[in-house]
Amino acid sequence: YEGEKSTYTKDGSSGALYRNPDKCIMCRRCETMCNEVQTCGIYSAVERGFETVVSPAFHLPMIDTQCTFCGQCVSVCPTAALTEVSYVSKVWEALLDPDKYVIAQTAPAIRVALGEEFGMPYGSIVTGKMVAALRRLGFKKVFDTDFAADVTIVEEAKEFIDRLNGKGRLPILTSCCPSWVKFIEHQFPELLDIPSTCKSPHMMFGAIAKTYFAEKFNIPPEKIVVVSVMPCIAKKYEIQREELKNEELENVDYVITTREFAKMIREAGIDFTKLPDEDFDNPLGESTGASVIFGVTGGVIEAALRTAYEWVTGETLEKVEFHGVRGLEDGLKEATVKVKDMELKIGVAHGLGNARRLLEDIRDGKRFYHAIEIMACPGGCIDGGGQPYHHGNLDI
Ligand code: SF4
Repeated sequence: YEGEKSTYTKDGSSGALYRNPDKCIMCRRCETMCNEVQTCGIYSAVERGFETVVSPAFHLPMIDTQCTFCGQCVSVCPTAALTEVSYVSKVWEALLDPDKYVIAQTAPAIRVALGEEFGMPYGSIVTGKMVAALRRLGFKKVFDTDFAADVTIVEEAKEFIDRLNGKGRLPILTSCCPSWVKFIEHQFPELLDIPSTCKSPHMMFGAIAKTYFAEKFNIPPEKIVVVSVMPCIAKKYEIQREELKNEELENVDYVITTREFAKMIREAGIDFTKLPDEDFDNPLGESTGASVIFGVTGGVIEAALRTAYEWVTGETLEKVEFHGVRGLEDGLKEATVKVKDMELKIGVAHGLGNARRLLEDIRDGKRFYHAIEIMACPGGCIDGGGQPYHHGNLDI
């Protein structure tokens, strides 16, 4: 992103998504993804002088549109006319600055996808190599966003129980996905009191890193640079939100996608497949199995429910059985969980088109749930807009 504001040429105004119309071949895959799957309707064919380009209406800068920056358009664009705004050079600069203490946190959804970038078989778990690569790039500490996912579970389960006891409106909606949070702000302002008040896990991690960790290790918080390695493009937008700062300090300084991380590994000349397996640093590298399932649709609500169930009953709920709701091909799932004498109805939607249908039904009183999870990307974060391109090769 070179700072242009004009969308007649290039546009990185959101700090998340970058449009270069000069590379557009008018295949309109982005338009199909945005309008039909995600239902945000940002792109359409717009006149530009004597040509036609796919663009937001009136060539508005992306930051002035209702785009949620889910990045699904980036995943299907064959020419890189749409990409993420890259922060690779900013992260290199920070890593080379002796006055900075640069730490990394990694999302649950990248520890399998990263191997695909280096030709490893689909499904290879590369957590140990990922940690080793970050150390060799120069990060002082390598921590796990799963730690903060566990914190999110505790916060969200507590808020859920409070709302069940009459303190707040039901259903409670999980708020881990910044793309879906922006979606509800634009599309369903009348429902804004139902998302949980929790920050997303990587933002919670950033806040903990610049307070608890800074104090424990005696490092001035302003020297700490937190880099989130994420499957997500919307998180690049999320970190800029003013209301998520603490004492004028950003919780997270840079978000890089799985693809950008792989680029850094290549730039450093590291042979990823030959790296040894290494462990996360402590104390912010510990986590439970519940946090790992955050990466896939249904995982956040299942994890929060397990904790809420245990707090209320004193017993362990091993697994929530979700059932597909006919007609939506599992884009919308339901479960009923018995907690003492209550039957809790749970809803899960992934993909913003499914989220829209679910929220319309709730708003119109056609469906009732006690708790809901929504993830903007079809399939959840494992299919995030920042994951490795598969170029249509789904031969797994
Ligand atoms: Fe980001 Fe995950 Fe939401 Fe996609 S589903 S926008 S990857 S948080």
